[in-house]
Amino acid sequence: MQEAKQILIIGGVAGGASCAARLRRLSEAARIVVFDRGPYVSFANCGLPYYVGDVIRDEAKLLVASAELFRERFGIDVHTEHDVTGIDPAARTITVRALRSGESRVYPYDALVLSPGAAPVRPPIPGIDLDGVFSLRTIPDSRRVRDWISSKGARRALVVGGGFIGLEMAENLANRGLAVTVLEKAAQLMPLLDPEMALPVRERLEARGVTVRLGEGLLRLDRPEAEVGAEAAPPPGLRATTEHGAANATDVVILAIGVRPETGLARAAGIAIGPSGGIAVDETMRTSDPHIWAVGDAVETTDVVTGARQVLPLAGPASRQGRVAAEAICGRATQFRGIQATAVCGAFGLTIAMTGASERTLGRAGITDYDRVYLHPGHHVGYFPGARPIHLKLIFRRSDGRVLGAQAVGEEGVEKRIDVIAMAIQLGASVHDLAEAELCYAPQFGAAKDPVNLAGFIAENVQNGDMPLAPQSTIDEIQARAVPEAAAAAPGADAAARPLVLDVREPGECVAGILPDALNIPLNQLRGRLAELPRDRMIVVYCAVGQRGYYAVRMLRQNGFDARNFSGGYQTYAAMREARLLK
Ligand code: FAD
Repeated sequence: MQEAKQILIIGGVAGGASCAARLRRLSEAARIVVFDRGPYVSFANCGLPYYVGDVIRDEAKLLVASAELFRERFGIDVHTEHDVTGIDPAARTITVRALRSGESRVYPYDALVLSPGAAPVRPPIPGIDLDGVFSLRTIPDSRRVRDWISSKGARRALVVGGGFIGLEMAENLANRGLAVTVLEKAAQLMPLLDPEMALPVRERLEARGVTVRLGEGLLRLDRPEAEVGAEAAPPPGLRATTEHGAANATDVVILAIGVRPETGLARAAGIAIGPSGGIAVDETMRTSDPHIWAVGDAVETTDVVTGARQVLPLAGPASRQGRVAAEAICGRATQFRGIQATAVCGAFGLTIAMTGASERTLGRAGITDYDRVYLHPGHHVGYFPGARPIHLKLIFRRSDGRVLGAQAVGEEGVEKRIDVIAMAIQLGASVHDLAEAELCYAPQFGAAKDPVNLAGFIAENVQNGDMPLAPQSTIDEIQARAVPEAAAAAPGADAAARPLVLDVREPGECVAGILPDALNIPLNQLRGRLAELPRDRMIVVYCAVGQRGYYAVRMLRQNGFDARNFSGGYQTYAAMREARLLK
């Protein structure tokens, strides 16, 4: 017979609900009680933007499992609208206030699981509490946004924050016919991407009529007097003033500027908080108190690539951590492997996905032993109708080829490639493993050399010296010549000592733009024109996307030239230039 432990869980959504259900599967004897201050448990927060946008029309579809289902199927007591107000670790009790009656009650526990999530950041700026300013975390939040839009006849929306939730909200509000502006304090949308990868995202939003304002934070909100002289009675407008002094008239403001782990209860109970601000846990999700576990958005765990302790507010890790905590509480040998920030977002027909480290996170962790390659293959073979490009960046350890991270943007097949690379990172695979990966292929799905294989081939070529890359200092110097006003970091070099920049595209392709001072010799003529090239200087070769550049590098190196490829070709160069301009 199993011991009848009393296990209490604070928070009944992603982490808490999966922990509760797993606990029951492992122990029929345990008394499991879940408390949530909200009216629902186990609801789909990830679906909320689509409920606002009317893609999900029936609110009930957002309820993955109800309190009744937990009770009837799993024998788990669920108390919604019950706020846990305190933890007494010495007495092993929690105090819970029933929000409807206002009564407080103390519950004892043998094991306690914290899954309180993370609260949307609401900066203390003037006007933040005005009507019409919303954050999105719960079903009632999304209902309030919907009601506001329809009851006030809102026509304009300001989304503050250009990350995942900001982009999803922008898309859904635009789908409802609102004129949308996205305000982002960073110099790029999707700040988790490296800057040069974010360019297609901005271009897509603008192409779909969204106004994108980068490098501008929100300073204050106010409600001016009714607009004088407007033809029809305007909806009650808000005015959003940015740090640049620009005023945006809008009818609804959505704050999507990140979340902060809910650590108040844990702090008050003396539970250790880690350096990144999340509840500190070990690999079994146990906190500094031996009877208390914590999971989800509120905790920090180890990043498998950088080794840094991080909070990662995503549903997948929260659910997996819930399972791990349940297993640990039931005495099973278990371990959470760590996080690697695998994430995906869809906006206006684009898919943006990433896994592992970005160059920015590597920089923060002080890791310099890496290279990166860019490629722009079709999501399936070019001869089959409908191939769409995937812009893919792969980051790997220079010393041994281990895959460290990948980012991809495109319309089709993006998340499939990132998922494959995510698994490779988790298993500690190298670029040679990507080159060898045996993946699905038929013309409508991929290519015999899948983009994942191609990324592996290219990185392998860099690794084994077949295709050295243009050094970063040279790329900076070329960019500086193209964008003199952003030249700060670029070392000056006189023209004769500088590497020769060789463009191997056809002349017609150069109309779109050319790198500064580049010499154009199309690849098909190169073998016959080697005499025109210097043997005492590095030659940086580029084409449109990097492939012909690679062929040229191989030809030149075998003829004794110090040739290096500009990975990703002109497409990547243009994105880098744009990112540099925006910095
Ligand atoms: P939550 O799911 O936030 O649950 C915490 C619960 O604890 C809440 O219901 C809260 O009311 C309750 N609670 C807190 N304190 C107390 C207390 N003292 N007493 C009682 N109850 C308490 N992730 C993805 O991976 N992909 C996505 O596409 C995605 N989209 C998202 C879209 C939106 C709009 C939002 C808000 C989040 C999205 N996320 C997404 C993030 C994902 O929802 C979270 O990572 C996940 O829900 C975290 O689970 P959790 O259990 O830690 O916290």
